[in-house]
Amino acid sequence: MYSKIVILTFPPEVAQKALVCQLTKKYDLLFNILSAKISNQKQGYMVLEIQSGSKSGFNKGVRYLKDKGVSVSLPEHQIFKDEEICTHCGACTAVCPTDALHIKRPEMEVIFDKDKCSVCELCILTCPSRAMGLFSAETQDVE
Ligand code: SF4
Ligand code: SF4
Repeated sequence: MYSKIVILTFPPEVAQKALVCQLTKKYDLLFNILSAKISNQKQGYMVLEIQSGSKSGFNKGVRYLKDKGVSVSLPEHQIFKDEEICTHCGACTAVCPTDALHIKRPEMEVIFDKDKCSVCELCILTCPSRAMGLFSAETQDVE
């Protein structure tokens, strides 16, 4: 079993092509789309959680996407939650696609589980108190 979160950036000329579904058809990789923004004739991005498959299938799938012009990178930066600032309003839990931010009941406390975080950054945009942030803005290209 091989699991990983990857960020794909599509140049405008391939943004509308059905490339990602080939990861399953050709390379036996099962994945979940955590977030995506794809528009016709514009650069798009997609955050994929590879849920199962082999390491060699993953490497071949990455090579396939790169050969098609897609940039593939791993999220090297991490999200943090500033507990001093967080008011536990819950706004971030409504946008978090992976349940990394969730409400603990009955305390109604917002918990951040960094192991589930895909680094999509939606919580940073949503938090009214600016309690969510990034450790580093770097990403690491997949070889
Ligand atoms: S949106 Fe911000 S203040 Fe509200 S619960 Fe989430 S981290 Fe805390
Ligand atoms: S960056 Fe924020 S919204 Fe995105 S998965 Fe991580 S905790 Fe959830």
